[in-house]
Amino acid sequence: MTAHPSPAAPHGEPGRTPAAREPRATRVLVLNSGSSSLKYQLLDMQDGSRLALGLVERIGEETSRLVHTPLQGGGGVRRETEGAIADHQAALKAVAEELAADGLGLDSPELAAIGHRVVHGGLRFSAPTVVDDEVLAEIERLVPVAPLHNPANLTGIRTAMALRPDLPQVAVFDTAFHTTMPEAAARYAIDVETADAHRIRRYGFHGTSHAYVSRETARLLGRAPEEVNVIVLHLGNGASASAVAGGRCVDTSMGLTPLEGLVMGTRSGDVDPAVTFHLMRNAGMSADEVDVLLNKRSGLVGLCGDNDMREIRRRIDEGDARAALAFDVYIHRLKKYIGAYYAVLGRVDAVAFTAGVGENAAPVREAAIAGLEELGLAVDAGRNAVRSDEARIVSPDYARVAVAVVPTDEELEIARQSYALVSETGPERVNA
Ligand code: AMP
Repeated sequence: MTAHPSPAAPHGEPGRTPAAREPRATRVLVLNSGSSSLKYQLLDMQDGSRLALGLVERIGEETSRLVHTPLQGGGGVRRETEGAIADHQAALKAVAEELAADGLGLDSPELAAIGHRVVHGGLRFSAPTVVDDEVLAEIERLVPVAPLHNPANLTGIRTAMALRPDLPQVAVFDTAFHTTMPEAAARYAIDVETADAHRIRRYGFHGTSHAYVSRETARLLGRAPEEVNVIVLHLGNGASASAVAGGRCVDTSMGLTPLEGLVMGTRSGDVDPAVTFHLMRNAGMSADEVDVLLNKRSGLVGLCGDNDMREIRRRIDEGDARAALAFDVYIHRLKKYIGAYYAVLGRVDAVAFTAGVGENAAPVREAAIAGLEELGLAVDAGRNAVRSDEARIVSPDYARVAVAVVPTDEELEIARQSYALVSETGPERVNA
């Protein structure tokens, strides 16, 4: 399973409801609630197959849109509905109707659990957890450190609870995989009392992806996760790196919030913290304005106006200097983290690229690994150029360290963790 496989989580109550014991209950609905969106997937955990997936966007506006794709039995036709969807409750009801139209209604006894992506679990939640009132209150208490995400996640959970109060709702935390980080990696070197009073420390994010990809990388190498050290590079619109030693995270690039670390689509990643008060004192910017600058108007978009790596590569091919600068800054930071995590791990068996950029952008992989031959790292141009949805090795056979492309699957991971918690199957069998 993950580094935190125990079904006996602090608040886990496996088999609490009749639905969880129902032998035919093998389906898990995975919900990822944003402030104005709701993404969902329905999976069957007998084989991890997807039965349906979709997205509701622009919730609360006149122009809400629901896109639903049934996938069972070879898949069906994608359906799109436009029109005002007032809130998350109405959104989930609309999703439930779409699923029911495919014979996959949420009232089905086959549904074992609803698994929720929750961005911030603080230090308290190191494993998937069945939600009760106390868990809800704790997620609420973490809102100050995740003001954009936790409120939306809470809305999703409450909405699902209202729809199926009898069903286990499982919270799967983005931070959980990183709770194994040693204090040396998790602490900022600031006054301890101040830090503790305000819960300031490095939590890390994208943990579900880092957990999944590090394990799948071990599988690709034909070895047990406990045996291998992996540097995972999750490069999407948000981006983070992690150092995983024997299946446990020992360092990661995001910190108190998902702003720290790598250069991202719109986020700066690492900057001297003095940039913030310099701008407040000298440019007359408010804290909120600096927040928007660093989170929304920085990174690739700040450097060159585009955050899509495809567009940046196209502009570079046309000789655009700002796009080239953005690419170079992005790669330089990435290379620094590879070097840093190599040193943290001491021995590295694989570097795994994942998410939108990592899985698709061969030039990013090539440039990030270029010049690292002394570290046993190299990319084979032919292998790197192959486009595929499968996990694969793109380093040459002689390379001491494997360079891998491993597509992430956060929904499957959330479903697996949720199912392992509520079923009597146990994580080992679910994961077999
Ligand atoms: P994600 O957040 O994982 O969905 O990743 C989204 C990002 O992946 C986009 O903003 C693009 O920069 C990048 N991306 C997606 N497809 C490609 C591709 N074929 N080549 C390069 N970058 C891509």
